[in-house]
Amino acid sequence: MSNLPVQPFQPPLRLLMGPGPSDVHPRVLAAQARPTIGHLDPAFVGMMDEVKGLLQAAFRTANEMTFAVSGPGSAGMEACFVNLIEPGDTVVVCVNGVFGGRMKENVERCGARAVVVEDAWGTPVDPGKVEAALTAHPGAKVLAFVHAETSTGVESDAAALCALARAHGALAIVDTVTSLGGIPVLVDQWGADAVYSGSQKCLSAPPGLSPVTVSSRAVDALKSRKTKVQSWFLDLTLLTAYWGGGAQLVRQPANQQTSGGISAGSKNPPGRTYHHTAPVNALYGLHESLVMLHEEGLEASWARHRAMHAALKAGLEAMGLGLLVAEASRLPQLNAVTVPEGVDEAAVRSQLLARFGLEIGAGLGALAGKVWRIGLMGQSATPRHVMACLGALESVLG
Ligand code: PLP
Repeated sequence: MSNLPVQPFQPPLRLLMGPGPSDVHPRVLAAQARPTIGHLDPAFVGMMDEVKGLLQAAFRTANEMTFAVSGPGSAGMEACFVNLIEPGDTVVVCVNGVFGGRMKENVERCGARAVVVEDAWGTPVDPGKVEAALTAHPGAKVLAFVHAETSTGVESDAAALCALARAHGALAIVDTVTSLGGIPVLVDQWGADAVYSGSQKCLSAPPGLSPVTVSSRAVDALKSRKTKVQSWFLDLTLLTAYWGGGAQLVRQPANQQTSGGISAGSKNPPGRTYHHTAPVNALYGLHESLVMLHEEGLEASWARHRAMHAALKAGLEAMGLGLLVAEASRLPQLNAVTVPEGVDEAAVRSQLLARFGLEIGAGLGALAGKVWRIGLMGQSATPRHVMACLGALESVLG
């Protein structure tokens, strides 16, 4: 007992340029520090409606079922799989990095059969192989793939892959954890069916929330399930009963909020059924980060990520450092940088952290020891970050 810490925790100052979390803007931190109110308070429910509307805008979708799952990106992933998949289903799952592998794990834990389409780490999912797998397994219920593979820095062609799913009568589950807000995520245009993301990457809110959007086709599939969703907490139908149906972008003045005579703290505001106690302050933070994205404009945010990537790449190349991924499928927000021969990659990361407070990521799995992963996500995609990273790397690499 006497060895327990008794001081408040003061995190060190960092520049977060790894694979996530990204730097959180002071506006978002300030939003999270506002007074906690009840998760059924009409004012809070009004804010949830705004989060829904702002997420619909960020996902470029009109899907009614759009909200934030209370949990990290992996919870959003699991929500999509456990709701759409039943034991005995067949799922074509694309694996070209760590997170495709995690999707396969989800499929198998749902008692379904995973037909794996494998591509080399550092390359995108090959639509030709996916077409062949869907043709060979005509009953496949779902095609699952990662849009932006954070473990390698690769973008796969989501439009082409969703079109293949539709042509073969399968639903498309798409991981946009690292893409949402950083590069185009066009849910309705793609025809994607169950799409999840994370708060801590290009949205730059703290980790712990997972935006999810579900198409009406997928809602129909949900309604025709033969078995109950095995996860009570992640049951999208129950969550929708809490988040409500419609979305509203503009908040009513406090004195006009439609509480319907329901006072703060009473059980269920109109159209809402208590499910779990929402992480109230975390949602204030996500709301603020989405307001900031809305103020900047989605396309301006995509352009900023591209511009910061171009600046970083130019500086890295001037130092003789190369990128792993071919230009056509390279993510601007996640740069896999090849570690030069003879350089101790872990020592470089340690020095960057110790001397400059700069966090970059290590390679994962097949790329461990071979690459550094430099993130330019959300609030970490600024000229200040690019210059600091280049200067620190130059100093450490000598
Ligand atoms: N999918 C991708 C592509 C990711 O990059 C991550 C996290 O880095 C996840 C899923 C899981 O998200 P979380 O770590 O928030 O659970």
